[in-house]
This record gives sequence, structure tokens and C-alpha cells, in this order.
Amino acid sequence: MARVALVTGGQRGIGAAISEALQAAGRKVVASYAGNDAAAEAFTKRTGIPCYKFDVADYESCAAALKQIEQEVGPVEVLVNNAGITRDATMKRLSRDMWDAVIDTNLGSCYNMCKLVWDGMTAKKFGRIVNIGSVNGQAGQYGQVNYAAAKSGIHGFTKALAQEGARSQITVNAIAPGYVDTEMVRAVPPDVLEKIVARIPMGRLGRAYDIARGVVFLTADDADFITGSTLSINGGQHMY
Ligand code: NDP
Repeated sequence: MARVALVTGGQRGIGAAISEALQAAGRKVVASYAGNDAAAEAFTKRTGIPCYKFDVADYESCAAALKQIEQEVGPVEVLVNNAGITRDATMKRLSRDMWDAVIDTNLGSCYNMCKLVWDGMTAKKFGRIVNIGSVNGQAGQYGQVNYAAAKSGIHGFTKALAQEGARSQITVNAIAPGYVDTEMVRAVPPDVLEKIVARIPMGRLGRAYDIARGVVFLTADDADFITGSTLSINGGQHMY
């Protein structure tokens, strides 16, 4: 039977490409999202992948959604923690709310989701978890103290949890994407983006599929000797 794969933020941007690539790889995919109903409806119509609306930053909301997904689709065996946000500002303007929102959504969500699938994966002695970090969590980025801290935290979280999961055949890996052409990056001012692309040896932004194929690789059933690793997919921008 096809394994159930849950992709948070899986109905648009990088997440949509991940959902579709996992579906093509034979997984029974479920996507989550925060509030963009139109994108979710269009995505489900196009792909047949069901979308569940819940806030990954809120533990109770994750718990209720996972219960529903388990009842309606089945227990999650492949988890991709992809949902993320930016709230960019230099320290001078970085409010406590902007800090909390980014930490809770990008990093707190990894705790919430992993915690809630962990017992099931442990009992089954199978699990594949991929957390989406960022090149900016590896290298830092001006105006992104909150985002860099959250993404850097994801890389440590991944290595620690991988050590706990190994005995139960659960692999936990991270992907650190470089700049990928999605709405998140389209929000960057064009002149800044031009300078960023100039620093990418491959001479272009990433495509969502460039990240998705990494997820398919790391979550394959036979990828059972790869754990605790961070796969950089960034066009050579940062060789870590
Ligand atoms: P997008 O902004 O295009 O999409 C973000 C997704 O996350 C949406 O599906 C959104 O749902 C969902 N989401 C946001 N907040 C929440 C929340 N609180 N609860 C549930 N879902 C939520 O992002 P990208 O596709 O660009 O990025 C995907 C991931 O990749 C993120 O973790 C990002 O940090 C990371 N990344 C992106 C890079 C890039 O260049 N684009 C580079 C490096 C890392 P909704 O549609 O409802 O708002």
C-alpha cells in the first residue's frame, strides 16, 4: 500500500512541487496550508491531492489536523516540514512579534509535526522526515536574524532527531535550498534579487522542482542509510 506523505505548505511554491513529485514517486500525498483557500482548491482540482488547513505554528491545531488526516487518509509515514514564512527587518526594526512569528512557523512547526508523528513512526519502525532549511540558515543574511536563526535551528534539530530515530529506522534529513523562484523570493526587490543571482555560480534562481527531487531522493524507502544530513541545493551559491 502506498505510504502517506504529508507536505506542510504543500499546495503552492516549493511545497507544491514537492507534493507533486512525491505523488509521481508513488506516495499517497496530503498537503497542508495556512489560509490561501483559492490556491488550495486549485491545487486539489489539478492534482487530486487533498489539502488540510491548519496553522503549523500552533500545536493544538496540528494535533487536530493529524488526527483527521490519520482517520481520512492513514498514518503519516513521510513528513516534509516545508511551511515557512519571512518577516524581514534589520535588528533596529525587528519587533518581538516578527521574531516570534518566524521562529514559531519555521522552527516550532518542526517540533509540532515531528512530535505528533513520532510515536507512530517509532511503532512502525519506519519514517522519513525532511525539514526544509535555507542557505540563509547556513550563511546568515542581512535583515534576516529571525529567519536565519529559525533555519539554522532546523539544521541542529535535524541532526539531533536523526540520532534518536536511527534505532527505529526513521531517517531525518534537511534540505537547504538556495534562492528559488517562488512568491517568497518574488517579494525581494528586483535590484536586490539581481545582485543575489549574480552570486549564484549556476547563474539562475532555483526552480521548485530542483528542491522537490531532493525530497524524493531523501524519502525513498531505500534511502535508509542517509540520516542527519543537510542537502544543499543552491546552484553553488554556498558550499557548506
Ligand atoms: P511560499 O511563500 O511560496 O509558500 C509558503 C507555504 O507555507 C504556503 O503553502 C503557506 O500556506 C504555508 N504556510 C505559511 N505559514 C503557515 C502556517 N503558519 N501554517 C501552515 N502553513 C503555512 O514559500 P516557498 O515555497 O518559497 O518556501 C517553502 C519553504 O522553503 C519555506 O520553509 C522557505 O523558508 C524555504 N525556502 C525557500 C526559499 C526560496 O527561495 N523560495 C529559499 C530557501 C528556503 P498559504 O498558501 O495558505 O499561505
